[in-house]
Amino acid sequence: MSEHHLIDSIAGSMADPAAFRKLGHESIDLVADYLANIRSTPVFRPMTPAERDRLREQRLPVEGTDGDIIIDEFARDILPFAMGNGHPRFFGWVNSPPAPIGILAEMLAAAQDPSCDVGDIASLYLEQAVVGWLADIVGYDPQAAMGLLVSGGSVATLTGLAVARQHCAETDGWDVRVDGLAGAGGKRLLTYLTDQTHSSARKAIELLGLGSASVRVVSTDEMFRMDPDALARMVEQDRADGHRPFCVIGSAGTTNTGAVDEFDRLADIATEHDLWLHVDGAYGAVGALHPQLTSAYAGLSRADSLALDPHKWLSVPVECGCVIVRDRELMRRTFSLVPPYLRTEEGKGVGGPPSYAEYGIQQTRGFRALKVWMTLRHAGRRGLTDQVVRHVALARHLAAMVEATPALELVVRPQLSVVCFRYLPGDGDRDPVRVDAINELVEQRVQTEGTVFLTSTLLRDRFVLRASVLHYASTEDDLRALLDAVCAAGAAAERQL
Ligand SMILES: *Cc1c(COP(=O)(O)O)cnc(C)c1O
Repeated sequence: MSEHHLIDSIAGSMADPAAFRKLGHESIDLVADYLANIRSTPVFRPMTPAERDRLREQRLPVEGTDGDIIIDEFARDILPFAMGNGHPRFFGWVNSPPAPIGILAEMLAAAQDPSCDVGDIASLYLEQAVVGWLADIVGYDPQAAMGLLVSGGSVATLTGLAVARQHCAETDGWDVRVDGLAGAGGKRLLTYLTDQTHSSARKAIELLGLGSASVRVVSTDEMFRMDPDALARMVEQDRADGHRPFCVIGSAGTTNTGAVDEFDRLADIATEHDLWLHVDGAYGAVGALHPQLTSAYAGLSRADSLALDPHKWLSVPVECGCVIVRDRELMRRTFSLVPPYLRTEEGKGVGGPPSYAEYGIQQTRGFRALKVWMTLRHAGRRGLTDQVVRHVALARHLAAMVEATPALELVVRPQLSVVCFRYLPGDGDRDPVRVDAINELVEQRVQTEGTVFLTSTLLRDRFVLRASVLHYASTEDDLRALLDAVCAAGAAAERQL
């Protein structure tokens, strides 16, 4: 195929710079209008069967389509059916809106489109810088620790636990990379977590071949934090029984309630018993920025590995997670498949920094650093801190409003920006099965009405409504609207059940 033909088939009409510019401007106008008008659109709009089919039953057209037409179709068939996280009245799961400058960063990164594994290229130095910023936020020494940007918390935790497994094998004198878990000589490598730990930790344990039977569930206190005394007792017992306790997973902000574990206590126990301490801070690690929460986060930087998602509380557009490991060389020994004669070192020859492929799973890696750099640089440390402080204050305000509303019950006092509560029927009937069923109906009704959005979870086997405040534009009025919608839906559900 001639070069000319290639340009024609891939770039199409966009090979013309003027056409590219025009389409680019149209796209930006579309995004700018979308952001400006988002409050006047439903938070969430369920799709009709026809709208779904229009998307999924398309065939790849034989001939190419003009960019204008494609953008129009995007505006009509795709853009209105969002998850809702861009809307200031969205309080579901742990999904923040994209920072507006992060939206632009996605386009700029694609313009350069490097593979961020190896080379003397700007994107790698930028990644070193932003990972250093994140490490610094959570108290690590950015010079000593090693970190990389990954798809999200799940891969960050998988990466951290792989290093933990490597460490365990090295300590015990076997080679997991050569022998797999057979090298452990039949001993189970036990991991300690709680029933509040995110499911991605279990998934990582299964994928690493450790098996879900090696998971020990430690009890939690009234704030849903891991009970360190219970942890210590379990580890001692397991050791006495001939097992190999190897890792404890703490949480810096659980998904359910935003619980922050007591890291200093966990780190003390980990040190005493030679356990790896991994902290899942996918959502809440950046809560460490809050000046009044310093003591709650004490000891966080003693974690051997940490997961932190810039695409959660920092509003970097998905996907963007980060894993930080305190022992840089151990991380390299876990993943590096580069023979020594091909290794590159910063400042030696023309090599550029060591390949990121030596420290993680991926080889070809996207330019995630640009959206982190642009978003964090735009906000500054002060802007990031203000946002965390504001969200925590809004969550406390919501909790206070819940407590002041007779039809509502606060389930647990929020530590971060997540509030769990439930609707209580006005007739005084507290039958748990009925109250749970009413609250399930409340969730469904609120979600499909489209004026606000929240989700739910189970706490101590009871169904609870769950609101997380993560939008830069959410206000107290939006929280009032949320509770009004919940109370109205509750009254309707109560009549129905
Ligand atoms: C979202 C989340 C995860 C999973 O991270 P992904 O980015 O979805 O892979 C893990 N832990 C916590 C606490 C989370 O909030």
